[in-house]
This record gives sequence, C-alpha cells and structure tokens, in this order.
Amino acid sequence: MYVVIVCSRCGHYLLAKGGSKTRQCPYCQIRLRLAKVKKVASAKSPKEASALIRALKQRRSEVLSDHGISDTDF
Ligand SMILES: [Zn+2]
Repeated sequence: MYVVIVCSRCGHYLLAKGGSKTRQCPYCQIRLRLAKVKKVASAKSPKEASALIRALKQRRSEVLSDHGISDTDF
C-alpha cells in the first residue's frame, strides 16, 4: 500500500510507502513524519500512486473520482 501525502513545507505531492514512518521531501529536503502529514490518497501500487499524483496536480476529476476522491476534498 502506498499513500500520497502533501509536504507540509512546500506543498508538493509525495509518494510514501505505507508503513514507513518518515519520508524526506525531494523538493525541500524536509523530513516529514507520516503520522503528522496530510494524506490525500492511497494506492495499491507505485504506478497507481503516481497516476494519482499526476491527477491531483492537474485536478483530473475523472481519475480522482475513480479512486473515490472528490475535487471538493481540497
Ligand atoms: Zn517539501
């Protein structure tokens, strides 16, 4: 299981592996504690997760609704 999180410093979407405790943001280098950051989506595979991140960046509502995410969640 993979989760899509939002960096609390720079706001980029990041992919984190479910079960891991921390994730370093590749954009601003901050070390995020997964218990504290905002999780916006979860996915079964890295491929699915990166498709979700792309969709989130573009607000592709048709992809997001496939995953039960609504644009109004943001
Ligand atoms: Zn960041």
